[in-house]
Amino acid sequence: MDILITEDLQSTAIDRLEKKYKIVRDGSLWKDAARLKTAMAGARSIMIRNQTQVTAELMGSAPNLIGIGRVGVGLDNIDVAAASKLGVVVIAPLNANAVSVAELALGFMLALGRKIPQADRSTKSGAWDRRGYTGIELDGKTVAICGLGRIGRLVAIRARAFGMNVMVFDPFVKADSPALAESSATLCGKLEEALAKADFVSVHSPLTPETRHLFNAHAFAAMKRGACFINTSRGGVMDEKALLIALQSGHLGGAALDVRETEPPAVKTAFETMDNVILTPHIGAFTVESQARTFEAVASDLDHLLSGEPALNFVNFERPKKS
Ligand code: NAD
Repeated sequence: MDILITEDLQSTAIDRLEKKYKIVRDGSLWKDAARLKTAMAGARSIMIRNQTQVTAELMGSAPNLIGIGRVGVGLDNIDVAAASKLGVVVIAPLNANAVSVAELALGFMLALGRKIPQADRSTKSGAWDRRGYTGIELDGKTVAICGLGRIGRLVAIRARAFGMNVMVFDPFVKADSPALAESSATLCGKLEEALAKADFVSVHSPLTPETRHLFNAHAFAAMKRGACFINTSRGGVMDEKALLIALQSGHLGGAALDVRETEPPAVKTAFETMDNVILTPHIGAFTVESQARTFEAVASDLDHLLSGEPALNFVNFERPKKS
């Protein structure tokens, strides 16, 4: 088998690959560790999104594996270090969905500021309550961006275009970084420093051991009363229970979550009942443009690898050669 597809992935780019390679598609494979391991034994490459957990053990059970095509950018479900040791190329088109995620984050700011979902629900129920949906402008407000990478940078530029002040917390960004200058952003040495001034907080850092529950009770308490929290990065960077308490107590004015600690959430939470909370099912990268770019890049790189050529969009630079 040339390509094993372990999640529900559909694209004309895959259909094209199917004319040239033997592909096995099983959208539910990621849920069943035993079946996944068996299927991996014969796979030369796999194509996944964010649900398949590609561990060292799983890769160890796939002696022919030369490539992992990640349709997206978050790499927290792949043991990249283990892949590198095994000589397995990890393909991830890192820039393909940044604009889409950044636009969603700005959409959340506008929706929270102007109470668009609440006004929509109310108007559709027959009401015409103009005063009840008095919102705030983004102009002149402050956004704190946690993580000024590919997506955070685009959010900063767009926020600036809306007249917002931009504060940044990112321990890996230097004070003379052009990414700060292009949005006239202020770099903060401590997360709390950025949080204390922000009307909106938007998270764009990856999920790592350092960022897991970075947004906890302490961080939410450091935010301004009435401020809004936006997470389009990974659910694990926030402690959902602490966020709920901060919203229920009225300390936070609202939240918009595209990602959750468990996806899909195992149980219903109070978030679903809260008018000032916007929930979306991890759709940051789900635009026509982003999906087309991502699938095309992954498919063409798998094609390169499987035909003995180098991939272009890979993330592990140091690895032994495996043919
Ligand atoms: P990136 O690697 O370009 O940027 C991440 C930034 O976070 C870097 O600048 C890094 O220095 C910073 N960072 C690292 N550790 C930090 C810490 N402890 N505190 C603060 N900042 C820290 O990644 P990106 O392409 O901008 O993507 C960001 C994240 O967005 C991804 O890791 C992914 O999890 C998520 N994402 C979500 C969706 C979605 O559908 N919602 C789509 C794409 C990406």
